[in-house]
Amino acid sequence: MKAGFVNIFGKPNAGKSTLLNALMGEKLAIVSHKVQTTRHRIKAIYNQPGVQIIFSDTPGIIEPRYKLHEKMMQAVKSSLEDADLALLMVDATDNVDESHQIFETLKLKVPALLIINKSDMVGEEKKMMEIVDFFKSQPYVKEVFVISALRQKGTEALMNGIINFLPEGHPFFEGDDLSDLPTKFFVSELIREKIFELYHEELPYHTAVLIREFKEKSTLIKIMADIIVQRETQKGIIIGEGGSMIKKLGTLARKDIEAFLGQKVFLELFVKVREKWRDNELYLKEYGY
Ligand code: GDP
Ligand code: MG
Repeated sequence: MKAGFVNIFGKPNAGKSTLLNALMGEKLAIVSHKVQTTRHRIKAIYNQPGVQIIFSDTPGIIEPRYKLHEKMMQAVKSSLEDADLALLMVDATDNVDESHQIFETLKLKVPALLIINKSDMVGEEKKMMEIVDFFKSQPYVKEVFVISALRQKGTEALMNGIINFLPEGHPFFEGDDLSDLPTKFFVSELIREKIFELYHEELPYHTAVLIREFKEKSTLIKIMADIIVQRETQKGIIIGEGGSMIKKLGTLARKDIEAFLGQKVFLELFVKVREKWRDNELYLKEYGY
């Protein structure tokens, strides 16, 4: 079994959405357009016997004028490195050197496949070979793929390449988890998004949100969620002085969840300490990572 997270990164209009549609085909399970999280913006889950791929993309626009924004580069980098594989995408008709400079600056540790898209727009074979050779010689690139996402040319080979680079492992989402995933998952992501907004620095990266209960009552939906942290001190920060922070978190998250579900919501949050949950496979599974 191959299973893992794949993050697609590239300038706006490179063809990321078109590629995802091509790769998913009829299995398209786009989860939501509305929800964006800081760490993963999950776009789709590809589920086939022996393979589960969780596709996400990276928030953050890569425009040359942002090049020097170190903080933003850090955010992009950590988002990409949270995945098992990065897909770096360029538009063959665009200035590919601009993208290259950003990819290079990231100094990624995660393996990366370089995708040259819109091959149908490049008449000259020689020009395409130049781009291919250029990227092949870059140390951050594992393999180069030339595709037309729109015409679905080269996408099958790319899919095989992706699977090839995925780690062996258990699926992250199964059975009921998978069918309930869109709602439950996005509710937990909405809560996590608020954690990223309200708390600083490292803390959000050490939290997970687990939906304990999701009950549809006649007038509202009752949701109980656990916020999992690694240390007592983190628990204290999440809760805040006299519960002030968690109250704020609950209110903000509830409003977003209500907007997302289109229904009134009663939200209860609990903070739990689980040491080293990130290193523990069982927890990872339980918490849907
Ligand atoms: P994103 O911003 O990276 O998600 O890019 P989109 O997938 O939205 O694509 C941007 C534009 O490029 C759209 O008009 C697509 O139809 C077009 N496009 C994407 N892939 C190809 C391709 O392989 N060939 C051509 N000619 N156009 C493409
Ligand atoms: Mg898009």
